[in-house]
Amino acid sequence: MTVNEKITLATATRPPSPERAERAADRGAERGGERGDDDKRGGRGFGRKKVCRFCADRDLVVDFKDQATLKYFVTERGKIIPRRISGNCALHQRDVAKAIKRARGVALLPYQAVVG
Ligand SMILES: [Zn+2]
Repeated sequence: MTVNEKITLATATRPPSPERAERAADRGAERGGERGDDDKRGGRGFGRKKVCRFCADRDLVVDFKDQATLKYFVTERGKIIPRRISGNCALHQRDVAKAIKRARGVALLPYQAVVG
């Protein structure tokens, strides 16, 4: 192998790698941008917007005696449904959690339901 051949080999093999990296970065950026435009909700299925029930309905008040309403925020096993699922705002989720705990205290809701 001559020195010339070595140089040509080096120049021939070197360029692609940085270019490729650049191109990959470009593609990634492009794709990311497109993704952000296409999926409005993070691409995780159901696209129904959750609204805090108590904010939406002014007449609806969080009440520990209102078993029917509280039941909506409790799982079958008796756990309080998190805000990210129930869609409550922070203020009302706090009220709901308090009401559920109160309802448990007076045996309107279970602390833990039996399974099976
Ligand atoms: Zn609210």
